[in-house]
Amino acid sequence: MEDQTSARPAPGAHAPNGLGAGRYAPSPSGELHLGNLRTALLAWLFARASGRRFLMRIEDLDRARDAGAGERQLDDLAAIGIDWDGAAVLQTTRGADHDAAIGRLAAAGLVYECSCTRRDILAAPSAPHAPPGAYPGTCRDRTDEERAAARAAILPRKPALRLRAPEGVHALEFDDLVLGRTRGDIDDFVLRRGDGTVAYNLAVVVDDAAMGVNQVVRGDDLASSTPRQILLQRMLDLPSPPAVEYAHVPLVLGPSGARLAKRDGAVTLAQLRDDRVGAGEVLSTLAASLGLAAPGEPVTTAQLLDRFDASTLPREPWVWRVGAER
Ligand code: GLU
Repeated sequence: MEDQTSARPAPGAHAPNGLGAGRYAPSPSGELHLGNLRTALLAWLFARASGRRFLMRIEDLDRARDAGAGERQLDDLAAIGIDWDGAAVLQTTRGADHDAAIGRLAAAGLVYECSCTRRDILAAPSAPHAPPGAYPGTCRDRTDEERAAARAAILPRKPALRLRAPEGVHALEFDDLVLGRTRGDIDDFVLRRGDGTVAYNLAVVVDDAAMGVNQVVRGDDLASSTPRQILLQRMLDLPSPPAVEYAHVPLVLGPSGARLAKRDGAVTLAQLRDDRVGAGEVLSTLAASLGLAAPGEPVTTAQLLDRFDASTLPREPWVWRVGAER
């Protein structure tokens, strides 16, 4: 009899179907709220509507995060009708690939140690032509001796590792399925923090490529990170636009107009359940907010897939008002 377990693809190593994959990649920092669920639903719709596989990755690199939250997030996604292919990939299991990528950049002379604190960076004069907030380059051109001295001077703290971005390149443009042509800053960003944790930009690029992801749908608060990620893709010879497409979708705002947060009342599935609002009703509300259902209309994710048209997506943030549309 065939062994079903071993016949299933290993997490993240799905047989390519030629169309690639989309993904949702939550950080397990707590329960998903309506904004997260809406972004996940959009990522699922974009992927499934284009015939892609849909993959899940729990971005748990920050060890201080709640270990159980990832499982609860997956339960909530399943409860509103989102499915995914294979098992969710835990980012903490991907360390060897992250290390290899940093090693490859280092071997090409594209990584340097940085001993700056946040305060050092704010106090340093900014480099000519550099975008506001860019790393000022303090540690970029140190000799080996200067570097050793800087390392000794900050003990027991350890230096971070930064990418040596190409000289004179301060910005990069990409085409976004929602935002259109988008330009964003590039600087010598951190690849590995002083505490040894791999930085989000490095991990996301390495993991998306390893998982065969060629469609990235996420909140538009991350659009400013995308130029850095595309630069890394190019430096690591990984697929990059147009082979990888990006869609940064509008966030959900709370009644105050700020990004939706837990203090905005019942915003997670568990809280809404306590208010007698079931997962089905939440899906209807999200669908209505996307113009994919009439207010209060019961829907399934399969029906939404039939109705989904990326070109008619609302471009404005959705403001969540307690009790609205339900
Ligand atoms: N883990 C990130 C977050 O929850 C999202 C990463 C991504 O989609 O690229 O904000």
